[in-house]
Amino acid sequence: MLTEEQIYPLLDKYAKPLPRYTSYPTAVELTDTFDMDDVKGAIAESVELPLSLYVHLPFCKSLCYFCACHKIITSKEDDKEIYVKNLRREAQTIASLTDSPISLSHLHLGGGSPSYMSNSQLAEVIEITNSYFSPTPRIQRSVELDPRTTNRDQLELFCKAGFRRGSLGVQDFDDTVQKLVHRIQSVELVRDVVQEMKRSGFEEINFDLIYGLPGQTKESISDTVEKVIDLRPDRLALYGYAHVSGKAKQQKTLEKYDLPDTTERISLFFTAKRLLEEAGYVWIGFDHFALPNDDLARHQKKGTLRRNFMGYTTSAGRGVLGLGVSAISDLSSIMFQVTPHLEQYAELVSSGSLPYWRAASRTRRDQRRAKVIEQILCNLHVDWSKFKGYQEDILGPSEEDRLVELEKDGLIELELDGFRVTERGRMFLRSIASVFDEYLPTARERGKGGFSAAI
Ligand code: SF4
Repeated sequence: MLTEEQIYPLLDKYAKPLPRYTSYPTAVELTDTFDMDDVKGAIAESVELPLSLYVHLPFCKSLCYFCACHKIITSKEDDKEIYVKNLRREAQTIASLTDSPISLSHLHLGGGSPSYMSNSQLAEVIEITNSYFSPTPRIQRSVELDPRTTNRDQLELFCKAGFRRGSLGVQDFDDTVQKLVHRIQSVELVRDVVQEMKRSGFEEINFDLIYGLPGQTKESISDTVEKVIDLRPDRLALYGYAHVSGKAKQQKTLEKYDLPDTTERISLFFTAKRLLEEAGYVWIGFDHFALPNDDLARHQKKGTLRRNFMGYTTSAGRGVLGLGVSAISDLSSIMFQVTPHLEQYAELVSSGSLPYWRAASRTRRDQRRAKVIEQILCNLHVDWSKFKGYQEDILGPSEEDRLVELEKDGLIELELDGFRVTERGRMFLRSIASVFDEYLPTARERGKGGFSAAI
């Protein structure tokens, strides 16, 4: 079994800030020099494909200091009301680009805190997704829930609308850590919400946890994970805290505390990992765990796990369409992002314009690199024989040299037709994937990135 002692000697070399590769090219390659007709063309062409629709609901009641999401703290109902009206306008404009509604295999409401919207606002958001798009009969609907703002009526509303998967932001159960990061929620509250979700009809429950927060110790994270195991979510994300205070200014508040260093982060991660594996959870990719009968575990076993802007997924969708401020869409030939500025968003959608402010086209070579990076992060194996022409196109002398070095360090095993990630390499998946990231050196030179620690 992999131990933290096997990881420590490699930290200096590999624990560098790197993208999380929820897309390739990564979001820092999106620019404002793009042709809106290319975006319109890509949307029009995707009408036949079942897409995943992501709807960003950015509002939150209070600010969690660790958060790097695009969120808006507000107590004004008006802000939320106006936003829903603007989502409708955006959906209308998208629908006007195609002769028939775009087909959806997945719908995910994320944020921000979707559960901070009122029930009537949520009902309207759901109605928008049903009216301007065409959900397939087996569509999977999921939602992010803040245990502090959701309630019984809301959970019933989601279930009646066909939502079966809910992700609860848990982060950490320790009182001291919760105070330091400004997110107080008791284990009793989370337990009540889990019971209410099951009673309402949610079939799959996810938890989001974070390691690397100030105040966390091996003892405190053990205690948190034991409480989590007791609540038995189907899957959970164990994210490394991403300290990117250049982008998320409120994170500076946490700099007055001792943030765990890389060695301590490894020790926190392994403490949680050991407990989860002993409790029957399977390690997925680099930062998820799932019960063996959960879809994520089954797809990882079959080699069909996928990755998109929402992280690891089993989505059979052929791309992601994002609705709402800051949402990113990914339609294989092009990626594009809605402006994150609320006023600009309102102005654009009110005038019937598409609200995209940045985009990046993907060349065939980019698409091939994206596929290989996804194989590394999801299925831990690259078999060139399954990807005709890829090897000649993207495996140059520099990539070959780096793969040989990774093998020397015990992170991969080279095979006749590709390579396989070792157990030790699982901790450095982002580093292994970065071998195929052509843009990373120039992104760093341009001072772009602000990537989080790879561990
Ligand atoms: S962690 Fe969630 S609830 Fe907290 S500020 Fe970020 S988006 Fe809002």
